[in-house]
Formats: sequence, structure tokens, C-alpha cells
Amino acid sequence: MSVSEHSDIHPHLRINSYGWYLRNRFGCRVSKVNVDAGFTCPNRDGSKGTGGCIYCNNVSFSPRDTLADIPLEEQVRHGMAYHRGRLGSEKFIVYFQKYTNTYAAVEQLAALYRRALDLPDVLGISVGTRPDCLTDGALELLTEMARTRYVCLELGLQSADDAILERINRGHSLEDFLRAVQRAAGRGFDICAHLIHGFPDERAEEFVKGADLLASLDGITSVKLHQLHAVEGTELAAMYRRGEFTPLTLAQYVTTAADFLERLPARISVQRLYGSSPLEIRVAPQWGLKNNQLWYAVINEIKHRNSYQGRLAES
Ligand code: SF4
Repeated sequence: MSVSEHSDIHPHLRINSYGWYLRNRFGCRVSKVNVDAGFTCPNRDGSKGTGGCIYCNNVSFSPRDTLADIPLEEQVRHGMAYHRGRLGSEKFIVYFQKYTNTYAAVEQLAALYRRALDLPDVLGISVGTRPDCLTDGALELLTEMARTRYVCLELGLQSADDAILERINRGHSLEDFLRAVQRAAGRGFDICAHLIHGFPDERAEEFVKGADLLASLDGITSVKLHQLHAVEGTELAAMYRRGEFTPLTLAQYVTTAADFLERLPARISVQRLYGSSPLEIRVAPQWGLKNNQLWYAVINEIKHRNSYQGRLAES
């Protein structure tokens, strides 16, 4: 099969980008607007663990304007204005991004999610969380909301290797992720998996096998790939300074991300191909590229190979 025969794949990007997926689904340009709804994380407050994942400094995940003390509506309005001006976006998905966005009583979750869904031009919500922080009540709530609105559940797996998950103090296992996907699948909402490449002692071939894993799971509809980077205030930054963490080179990351995409079935859309962090707290790697340059570094590698997403997929 060639790239032109895959309706899921953007003909120029040669992957099923999430923007392409959303445009096909909703018929207009759709952007995600990040919000900080004031959650915390069970891997920080002691209920699952303390100290958090070794790379976690949530400042690095979020645009500066998504601060919990700014009302959610204001954060969304600000994000919408930005995306309307920059990209001409017409509709929006509110992304509950920071920390663990199912870590509260279901009544509180319902109230927060509904505030987002009630805003004009909002098509739906995307909820980022840990696979071990998903109660039956939260799943039922998302299921009910997905009957009338767009809903995406974003599950952080980060690595499919339990030894790595333990080393990075993730506080959950691959089995937790598999169970969460199984419980969430078939409920009418999208499921996105997050993976990071570049952990100490991680082999590229093992990371690429993550594409086969996602392909084998019913219910996974999209993926986010990130390179591991160390930011100030994290254990990973301390490890880097002690010589215990060697970041990937840009070429290594681009090659492995392209290998991953070739194995990822075209039906799974790609939400991200890189991680970013504010320059002032970025420690390593320092590749000197802007976000869209990182995105296109991977896209251009796929083009250079005359390949496309899913070319080597098993299913
Ligand atoms: S689960 Fe997410 S928010 Fe919690 S410590 Fe890990 S990276 Fe940070």
C-alpha cells in the first residue's frame, strides 16, 4: 500500500497528525487549549509516592498562562485568542493538562469538566492522567460526557519497560496501563498514550516496540511522543550534572521517532513528536531548535526515507 491509499494519512506530512484527524472529524481547524485546573498528583503527595517522576517539573509542561489561580474560563479565553490569531482555529478542545486531572472526587471532576464544555466554541475536553488514577466513577463520567461531546483520555505510560518505570519513580507499572486501557476502551471516547524516549539505559529498539504494543491494544486512538529532557528542579537535572544521564542527540531521537512511526498503524493519530520546556529552565539536551523545527525534523526524516506512518506496522 502507498501513502496515497491511506485516507488516515496527511498526504504531505505522511503521518496521521492529530490536527489532520480533528479537521477530518469536525470539518474545521481545531486547537487544544491547555488549562491548569489546580490538581495535584498522587505520585507527589504520598498516596502513590513522593518526589514525583524524576523528570517532572510541571512548569516545563505548561504555557505560562495556565496558572491554577486564574479562573478556568479566563485561561480558555486566553488560549483561544492565541490559537485564533496564530493558526486561525475555529473550534477548541480544553486540555486538562497539569498534574493528574482525574485526582479528585467525581463531583468535583464533573463540575470542572462541565465548566469547560459550557464555553462557546468548545467541542470537548481532553483529560491527562496517570493509568493508576482512574476510578470507575471518573470513567462513567467521561463515558456520559462522550455521548454528546468530544472526549479524549490521555494516559501517561512513558515507558513500556517496568524496570525503567521503577528507575524513574513513576509509581505505576505497564500492567496498570494495560488495565486502564482495557477499562476505558469501547466507551465512546478517544484514548491517547504518552511515551518518552531517552531514559537512561533505554535501547532504541525497545522503545520502537512500544508502537507494536499500542497497535495491539483496542481503544488507543492517538499517541504523544517526547524526547526526555532535563529541566531545573528535577532529579534528572541532578543526574545530568553528576554524569548519570546522557541525553539523546537530535539525530538519535529523530531516527528512533521515525522508526516508531513506521511501525505505528495509520489509524492511530500523532498528537506530538517532541517535548518542549521554557528555555530558562531547560538543562539538557539543548538542540537549539524551535518546536516546529523539531516536528519537521521527524517529518522530514520520514520523507527522506520515502516512507510513511504505518509502512512497517504489523496490523
Ligand atoms: S505523574 Fe505526571 S504530574 Fe505526577 S510526578 Fe509524574 S510527571 Fe509529574
